[in-house]
Amino acid sequence: MPDQAVVKATFADGSSTTYPKGTCFSDILEMKGDVSPSIIAVRVNGNLLDLSAPLSDDARIEFISADSEEGHDILRHSTAHVMAQAVQDLYPGVKISIGPSIANGFYYDFDYERTFNIEDLEKIESRMREIIAEDLPITREVLPRQEALTLYREKDELYKVALIDDLPDESVSVYSQSTFTDLCRGPHLPSTGKIKAFKLTSVAGAYWRGDEKNKMLQRIYGTAFADQEKLDAYLEHLEEAKKRDHRKLGKELELFSISDEVGAGLIIYHPKGALLRRMLEDFEVREHLKRGYQLVKGPQILKVDMWKKSGHLENYKEFMYFTDVEGQQYGLKPMNCVAHMIIYQSKIRSYRDLPLRYFELGTVHRHERAGVLHGLPRVREFTQDDAHILCTPEQLHQEIKSIIDFVADVMHIFNFDFEMELSTRPEKTIGSDEDWERATSALKKVLDEHDMPYRINEGDGAFYGPKIDVTLKDVLDRKWQCATIQCDFSLPERFDLSYIGNDGEKHRPVMLHRVILGSLERFMGVLIEHYAGAFPTWLAPVQVMLLTITDKHAAFGEDVFNQLLSHAIRVEKDFRNESLRLKIREAQLQKIPYMVVIGDKEVEEGGVSPRLRSGENLKLMPLHEFISLIKKESHVPQ
Ligand SMILES: [Zn+2]
Ligand SMILES: [Zn+2]
Repeated sequence: MPDQAVVKATFADGSSTTYPKGTCFSDILEMKGDVSPSIIAVRVNGNLLDLSAPLSDDARIEFISADSEEGHDILRHSTAHVMAQAVQDLYPGVKISIGPSIANGFYYDFDYERTFNIEDLEKIESRMREIIAEDLPITREVLPRQEALTLYREKDELYKVALIDDLPDESVSVYSQSTFTDLCRGPHLPSTGKIKAFKLTSVAGAYWRGDEKNKMLQRIYGTAFADQEKLDAYLEHLEEAKKRDHRKLGKELELFSISDEVGAGLIIYHPKGALLRRMLEDFEVREHLKRGYQLVKGPQILKVDMWKKSGHLENYKEFMYFTDVEGQQYGLKPMNCVAHMIIYQSKIRSYRDLPLRYFELGTVHRHERAGVLHGLPRVREFTQDDAHILCTPEQLHQEIKSIIDFVADVMHIFNFDFEMELSTRPEKTIGSDEDWERATSALKKVLDEHDMPYRINEGDGAFYGPKIDVTLKDVLDRKWQCATIQCDFSLPERFDLSYIGNDGEKHRPVMLHRVILGSLERFMGVLIEHYAGAFPTWLAPVQVMLLTITDKHAAFGEDVFNQLLSHAIRVEKDFRNESLRLKIREAQLQKIPYMVVIGDKEVEEGGVSPRLRSGENLKLMPLHEFISLIKKESHVPQ
């Protein structure tokens, strides 16, 4: 019999060592001579564990540093525990509920008799600093379910009791530091002293279990990073994002508003916003016509029978709005596909007619829960740059390729980086194996040829076909969903679409749904933040702002104004009897590309001296020269 059982650990670098069975991972670290303080947890055969856990079998082992993605989660979740302890210490009677890590941070929900404010956050932060300075060990314990229930009943933590009640397990794990104990799966930092840099960022209301019928709790948000430098960079990034917030800029630049009186999630476009939107629409129409698309337009409401036929009633009903007209039920369209199918059906199609590319700036309505509505990206009414392409199987590859090229061209024009993702066949599907194979390999082949990295989401396609999703990255490196290319085996079947092939037989066409920008509303929101409201001349709702120094310059000013207007230049004027300094200040806040001040010199010489948004002044020039300059900049960049 061996003296003591040994087990083998295989490390990330491929090396392996044997240890007495039961050696804990922090001891293994020490034996390896690796005392890097940034290591906070370990992955054992794919599972994340505490450093205090024992090595009980042969295993692959990878140590997790605080600076990695998983490390951030553990660090932030542990900081949430420390925050909850601080809140318990400072506010007797407070009840704790849940506190997970989230993208870029963490939160914890509390039930307390009054609302927390900024001063509270500061107090909590300083108590947290004390807890961190004490470097309290964070320990794990597994309790029988009943014991855990008793523990939290005694502490009068009703939310924790409710959470345990919901767990199917016979035993539960809890993590403790000092007097604080939280129901938790873990893993956690070995001790509170491992937290090097954190910040509480905000407090907001949040319903218990996300259900508006439940009590409103208070959610304190915060974040933590491996070091102060990274935290500072992130906070600076947050500040910049706040300055660029499209809801704030939308109001300041008078682009759009949302009114509870009118309805949540419904956008009201003010003159400048409507103009900006029109610029985008014109751009879209031009780009689509250039690429052989045909403009079509379907009605806003369609008979319910149509939605039955399309499958929307069965699969999408909860997102739809319905209305009765003369005893007939209609559904407000949540997607634009149906009318396009009807157009295709309207006559006999030959293979020579294909591909057909129907394009519509289609306004759709989708019922989103009030809780998820947010500015321009999440609304209940929006317009898609939607197209449906019907082609032969042989044409599919070329069509997908053209769409990807289209996406790449558009992203280039707006200066966005983008990423692509392919979602493949899920478990439950319609369509034959052959259909799936052909469509998936067509999508994949185009991505491979395009020489761009992409991700594959195995099994994540819709039941009716595989798809490519495109996410763009803005200047702040945030990701936004834009284009989608979706194969569909269902609709051509449901609408019995066909074409006559060169063999004289009837065939089923292949169909693609696709959007390029996606929702115009969301894209506008992204653009506002991307440009921080300072749109390039071709998109700017106002391109030129005219200012007079005194009333005696107004007559010439009017003349310049009318000439610019007659050249379709988007111009505004401020001829008020106010100080020039004030007028310039106000114009600057509007972030207009060109400001033109009219004074004695301009009137005498009959020219203008434009001033760029950057503050740079151009020399006095004849008006026609300025007009050509603006016209040149009004072209969409290529
Ligand atoms: Zn926890
Ligand atoms: Zn569609």
